[in-house]
Amino acid sequence: MEGTAASPLAAARPLVDTFQRRITYLRLSVTDRCDLRCSYCMPEKMKFLPRAEVLSLEELHRLSLAFIARGVRRIRLTGGEPLVRSDMIDLVRALGREVGYGLDELTLTTNGTRLADHADALAAAGIVRVNVSLDTRDPALFEQLTRRNQLSQVLDGIAAAQAAGLKVKLNTVALKGLNEGELPDLIAWAHGQGHDVTLIETMPLGEVDGDRIDHYLPLGEVKARLDARWTLSPSNHRTGGPARYFDVAETGGRLGLITPLSNNFCEGCNRLRVTATGQLYPCLGGGEQVDLRAALRSADPEFRLEAALDEAMRIKPEKHHFRIDTRGAAPAQPRHMSMTGG
Ligand code: SAM
Ligand code: SF4
Repeated sequence: MEGTAASPLAAARPLVDTFQRRITYLRLSVTDRCDLRCSYCMPEKMKFLPRAEVLSLEELHRLSLAFIARGVRRIRLTGGEPLVRSDMIDLVRALGREVGYGLDELTLTTNGTRLADHADALAAAGIVRVNVSLDTRDPALFEQLTRRNQLSQVLDGIAAAQAAGLKVKLNTVALKGLNEGELPDLIAWAHGQGHDVTLIETMPLGEVDGDRIDHYLPLGEVKARLDARWTLSPSNHRTGGPARYFDVAETGGRLGLITPLSNNFCEGCNRLRVTATGQLYPCLGGGEQVDLRAALRSADPEFRLEAALDEAMRIKPEKHHFRIDTRGAAPAQPRHMSMTGG
């Protein structure tokens, strides 16, 4: 079936913020729930939202079409763990039909634990690429970091995705004193398998059980160590996202670095984020928000949604103000990454 979101509105009323940044990318969280408990992401005893507060499949679909109609060309489904939501594949199928009809790309960020079960269906539904989060290949460290013993499921998931024809990119949070020493081997392994890797600095979002400052690792330090081992040259590759890319001559692979703390990248921001409850956050690191669920559930949802998207453009801040330099300081934002969608 063909897509529905022909977009005369996109040309007429594109999403452009007050800093003249055009918004073409949406990160849509489909659930705040997760089957892992990564220690930098959430506390062991994380409280999840009552299901009634979360948008229905139909609401997520309508919302996505409204964004596509205003010029959003890429949607990434995320969470929480998107694959723990039972009707997730139905949403992927519905949005997959929009690819080529306003939408250029539909992607998914997953922890990989359930990827082996879903890889074929994702590929059949129009997903071409998945981002899989993998911070370590050491089973003991994986269990320490995620508080769950599921490394083998994740590795099986990555292999299944590749076998299904999906392009896999790995996301790795760099953590001082934890996976720091393993990063070169992890990158070499991933490149050997044909997967690009992007390293990420840990960000101060939501309370966790420890202090993130203990494991914050500026990627400048990591890059200096990698430079001593390999030949990294800046790549022309651009995704419109915050990563800077390097080609690694010795491995033949590509390495991305996302440095929200040590090097601000907001100038070219092209994205919005929507939580599973329909709260639109125009900035991952900011408190500004617009309630899309109220708009969707109002008497005049079309008008209210349009107005809400216009409001998001008015309030999108110039940049985030993350800092991670004071022990015991409150996080920059009280909400966890699993809520806003990473
Ligand atoms: N559960 C899925 C996963 O792990 O891929 C999708 C959601 S998760 C919140 C998305 C990404 O955010 C993951 O790559 C994770 O490592 C990253 N992340 C979570 N909390 C973070 C934090 N405080 N700072 C930096 N990255 C974080
Ligand atoms: Fe779950 Fe992803 Fe957060 Fe880990 S990073 S706890 S997998 S949402």
